[in-house]
Amino acid sequence: SSIPKIVILGAGYGGILAAQRLQKELNYNEADVTLVNRHDYHYFTTHLHMPAAGTDSIKHSRVNISKLIDEFKIDLVKSTVKEIRVRDKKVILEDGTLSFDYLIIALGGEPETFGIPGLAEYAMTIRSINSVRMIRQHIEYQFALYKTDQSRSDRLNFVVGGAGFSGIEFVAELADRIPALCKEYDVDPNLVHIYNVEAAPSALPGFDPELVEYAMDVLSKKGVTFKIGVAIREATPNGVVLATGEEIEAATVVWTGGIRGNRLIEAAGFETMRGRVKVDEYLRAPGYDHIFIIGDNSLVFNPEGRPYPPTAQIAMQQGVLCAKNVVASIRGQEMKKFVFSHKGTVASLGKGEAIASVGGKKYKGWIAAQLKKVVDMRYQFIIGGIPLVLRKGRFL
Ligand code: FAD
Repeated sequence: SSIPKIVILGAGYGGILAAQRLQKELNYNEADVTLVNRHDYHYFTTHLHMPAAGTDSIKHSRVNISKLIDEFKIDLVKSTVKEIRVRDKKVILEDGTLSFDYLIIALGGEPETFGIPGLAEYAMTIRSINSVRMIRQHIEYQFALYKTDQSRSDRLNFVVGGAGFSGIEFVAELADRIPALCKEYDVDPNLVHIYNVEAAPSALPGFDPELVEYAMDVLSKKGVTFKIGVAIREATPNGVVLATGEEIEAATVVWTGGIRGNRLIEAAGFETMRGRVKVDEYLRAPGYDHIFIIGDNSLVFNPEGRPYPPTAQIAMQQGVLCAKNVVASIRGQEMKKFVFSHKGTVASLGKGEAIASVGGKKYKGWIAAQLKKVVDMRYQFIIGGIPLVLRKGRFL
């Protein structure tokens, strides 16, 4: 048929927003839209540090995609993308092939280990519902194991690599979770050690220094030991070795220290920087009029020429704009340039504690924690309306 085929790869923040916007803007029979995702659910990546530590249930972090899109308008394909063939305009799935006229790549990022030996083998990462289940079970299991062999104190040592956004948020939840686990497994809380190791000279790079200090103070009081400005040299089956030569024995190592673009993108032949593509002002891959790349796989620069960090916030705005641009292109209209509107940043520090910088103002403590909930619920409202907020929202 002559109806253009639009294929969206990935139903994360960028992909869902793009799909919803397309279903809203396109007229009947104006285009065929297919959304491909590995799972039949969407997950709130920004929330995964909680179920990973065990402070919240996994069901609050996921929602079936069929609840978010109109399947009369969008074809949902549950499959894994294996290859993107840009010249043939085809996508190879694990169980079939799709051809496209327009492609929106929103596959999300992958952990970056910077070639640090052992990290890929021995560290766990927070990146999906499946990985979160592993971390959660692993943590609990270490307490159970410790009770059967108390000579292994490394069972009660936890290393989190990276004190960026997700590292700090996870470490905070872990610190909140430990007292409950100690109680459940009859373990003396003094035997448990949480280390947060960061190579950069400061935790939470990009945050206001006063808020960073507040965050580290809150987390130190919760029992976290920071090692800032110290790189992890190697991960081993027994823990980590730091650049200083110091060894930390730990049965649990969680790596949050870096994110890179999806490997399928460089395999497709796009020019990348750490797996991410510097897209044009309309969010297209350079040299391809019909291929848009958004979210953690795209690289967009601010007016000062520095790349924006990959966030859910920018992925969502890109999802909406690239959908509009696809529609404009189909209709022969002019496309719009992407301009990022920064709404602020909130980092959770565990129950009742957070830091936030919104509209040039700084917030900390309880009020910032309320802001975090507002941000979460605002997102649920955007993608699923009031019903989703009521089912997944955490009001208390
Ligand atoms: P994703 O949301 O990662 O979605 C990608 C989708 O593609 C997934 O559904 C995945 O299953 C699917 N997929 C991947 N590969 C394949 C394949 N081969 N075949 C089929 N499907 C595939 N950002 C913020 O703005 N605020 C925060 O507070 C915040 N907190 C965070 C906390 C943590 C613990 C983490 C890990 C990240 C956080 N982020 C936060 C970053 C944010 O989650 C990402 O920037 C955002 O998810 C990127 O959106 P995306 O659409 O590019 O990809």
